Amino acid sequence: MGVRRWNGWIDEGAEPPAVASGAVRLLEAEIGPGAPPRDATLGEVVASLGASALADEAGLSIDPVDRIRHARGQSLPDWIALRSGRLGRVPDAIVRPATSGDVRGILELGRRRGAALIPFGGGTSVVGGVMPDLDDDRPSIVVATELLTGLHGLDETSGLATFGAGTLGPDVEAALGPHGLTLGHLPQSWERSTIGGWVATRSAGQQSLGFGRIEELFAGGRLEAPAGSMVLPPHPASAAGPDLRQLVLGSEGRFGILTETIVRVGPKPRVEAVPSWVLGEWPRAVDAARDIARARLPLSMVRLSTPIETATTLALAGEGRGVRALRAYLRFRRVGPEPCLLLVAASGDEKLVELAVREVGSIVRRHGGTGIGGSPGRQWLRSRFQVPDLRDALWELGYAIDTLETAVDWSRLPDLAADLGRTLRHGLDDVGERVHAFSHLSHVYPSGSSLYATYVFRLAADPDETLDRWRRLKDAASEVIVRHGGTISHQHGVGRDHRRWLAGEKGELGLGVLRDVSARLDPDRMMNPGVLLTDARDERSGRR
Ligand SMILES: Cc1cc2nc3c(=O)[nH]c(=O)nc-3n(C[C@H](O)[C@H](O)[C@H](O)COP(=O)(O)OP(=O)(O)OC[C@H]3O[C@@H](n4cnc5c(N)ncnc54)[C@H](O)[C@@H]3O)c2cc1C
Repeated sequence: MGVRRWNGWIDEGAEPPAVASGAVRLLEAEIGPGAPPRDATLGEVVASLGASALADEAGLSIDPVDRIRHARGQSLPDWIALRSGRLGRVPDAIVRPATSGDVRGILELGRRRGAALIPFGGGTSVVGGVMPDLDDDRPSIVVATELLTGLHGLDETSGLATFGAGTLGPDVEAALGPHGLTLGHLPQSWERSTIGGWVATRSAGQQSLGFGRIEELFAGGRLEAPAGSMVLPPHPASAAGPDLRQLVLGSEGRFGILTETIVRVGPKPRVEAVPSWVLGEWPRAVDAARDIARARLPLSMVRLSTPIETATTLALAGEGRGVRALRAYLRFRRVGPEPCLLLVAASGDEKLVELAVREVGSIVRRHGGTGIGGSPGRQWLRSRFQVPDLRDALWELGYAIDTLETAVDWSRLPDLAADLGRTLRHGLDDVGERVHAFSHLSHVYPSGSSLYATYVFRLAADPDETLDRWRRLKDAASEVIVRHGGTISHQHGVGRDHRRWLAGEKGELGLGVLRDVSARLDPDRMMNPGVLLTDARDERSGRR
């Protein structure tokens, strides 16, 4: 992995991947031809930058390119700001602590200078989690965790590994691999995100069904808060009152800076199989996914695509021989009017994997589905970390692509999924634009499932107009999610973009408790203002 380009996802200097002609045709037919707006150059953004308010402070980077590179994350509003060069505010400085002691020094500096501090891991937040608050006139310092890295300790007997919080996904696995161990936490952003960022956002890996979400893997660590240090011991279980680890999980930089992360690791599975099936219609496919979840088989992933997502996946896969053969096979088997692709991953030893795959096969057949072999699964394994590169490619064709996600009980899922799809598809009718929207179940649980939606719409010539299109879609989709009893985020966190909907989920008292915790740990309110919680000052000024 190289250095990420300053205004996108792919490596600096790399070309975006080609989009299959079938997928371009599909988009043109569904939402019309795209016209890419002109991107601002890095030189233009550097030239427009104001002076740093912290230029007189030693030990901080105020290099303009460094400031721009740490100004935003990876949400669509972040992309619009970066591509148009209309960043609003950029941080005044970047600082790179190497030890918990350094972090304490930075907290003291922040207090002394009346600055806001923004913890920054991989900067892959898709909810506006890593940017200076546009309404806060204090200077801001990004605390980049890129030197807080490496395996600090490994207790093989207990299966506990201690990592610096800034360690990137591939470095976590590279450190564990020689010991035959794995964490197995593989969000799609794995190559560019950090273990501390995962904890701070309660992330879900693609195979969390088997390995566990980060909240199950996070055993303890060290949080440096403005009010002091909080050491979280890695007890296997404890009845000693509420678990403080749960406060750190999902705290999104509001309560302090996580410097060390202790995680539960396990033996690397001997085999991994990703077989696939196709079911003929969505309601029966959902029933099958639910039955699989309830069977509690040793699976690491169940991923079920709606008919529209299945058709889009096939279009993106191009017109190679394999895809043509699959289409012919589906016609021959008369699978059903609206094929839904089901991918399942099973990891472990040979016997368990074989048993799990056989059981899934019999559940799927009971619901009218048919096996289509290992080729879609192999393709998924090969490309799973490259799919996000499409964002760069589509942008350059004049299209914005974004995702949103929720989790809801099985009983409410069908209505939520139908309403969400309709809402996204018609969300820009008022402005005469169409939207291509599709979704899949990405994580299944005995009582419900996550729902992960992707939507594509055309970029406008004016970045403010593109932002307005995004906001219409995001607001309408969030209202639908909340109305149907879904969580406002299954995995991406709250950041700025979901903050408005948090009170509905936590209740005013619950949110008040979190605000009180923030006030106790961070009396000067310097940690990541504007993210997760509104604070008293926000409320006084009427911000939500
Ligand atoms: C292409 C793409 C795919 C993605 N796929 C997934 C996915 O499959 N599953 C998933 O869950 N998410 C996914 N995400 C979202 C994102 O990658 C996760 O939220 C991830 O956990 C963020 O990690 P990070 O290191 O990049 O954190 P950052 O983006 O740098 O920070 C995220 C938040 O955590 C805070 N923070 C970071 N480090 C620390 C620390 N050490 N101490 C205290 N606070 C800290 C930041 O202030 C911020 O509020 C994806 C994002 C992208 C762009």
